[in-house]
Amino acid sequence: MHNMPSNTECILNGSPFCALQNTAECGKCALNKLTDDEKYAAVDDMIETAKALPEDGILNIKGDECALCRREPKKASRFALIDMGHKNPAAEAGSPLSNGSDRGGALTVPVELPVCGACVRRIKTMSYMPKVLALAIVLGGLILVALEPVRLALVKYSPLLPVLIFLIFVFLGIIVDTVVKRLVSKRIERSTNVRTRRVAALYGLVSRGWFVIGEKNGVPPYVFVGEKLDSGFMTGDGRDALLETIRREGRALIGAKPEPEPENGAESEVEAPSETSEKPAADEEIKRQEAEKTTEE
Ligand SMILES: [Zn+2]
Repeated sequence: MHNMPSNTECILNGSPFCALQNTAECGKCALNKLTDDEKYAAVDDMIETAKALPEDGILNIKGDECALCRREPKKASRFALIDMGHKNPAAEAGSPLSNGSDRGGALTVPVELPVCGACVRRIKTMSYMPKVLALAIVLGGLILVALEPVRLALVKYSPLLPVLIFLIFVFLGIIVDTVVKRLVSKRIERSTNVRTRRVAALYGLVSRGWFVIGEKNGVPPYVFVGEKLDSGFMTGDGRDALLETIRREGRALIGAKPEPEPENGAESEVEAPSETSEKPAADEEIKRQEAEKTTEE
């Protein structure tokens, strides 16, 4: 399910934070070269990112249905890759860690939307057809003014006339690109949800402050692939389960950050905080109950 190399020197070894990197060897892990301090900071980022992600999974989707079909979803045969970022996952999760810092913003989440062949074809038509037509017009203009008889006839009026005519064709090309793009996308959006805000599978992410990186006019820069990514940060089928564990247990999964100078043995230092965090609460509860008793009497 997940690639997880073993390096007992690494503080993340064997933890869900390591599994979330999903790399076959440590050399390919983005966190490999970091110092321990930086790894703890990266762990905090991962915890805050996990908290900022929808709890019921990154994608709101069932089975292998196309995420972009507007009406009856067809069976998906490919994947559309997009990257989503969060301006400040730490702040979004309401953590004291955020402190106005956007360190967490360095993290992005790769999203793999299952898509059907028909939707892929429509989106490709939408992105290429207007450009191809515009280019054909510009090229046509260039060929026209380059033709010897045409050029000679134009130069008779003014030596700048061929350039002017060519510029008119360039201008025409730009207009055609814009108009055709609008017409084609209108037509295509009857059957395919192209814009981010119309893709139901992304509602959970968008409503929690995630945005598509590189989006233009509300349309993500879809990259189509035959298979899901088999390695890399936050890829792999077990991703949602790992995020759930990270959300629930947080830093406890790798133990506390060691103190700079452990004098009375590191073990008791590490275990102390978890016990003290519960005891005062229990003591206070008893005190409160006693206080209530005395007031009742
Ligand atoms: Zn579809």
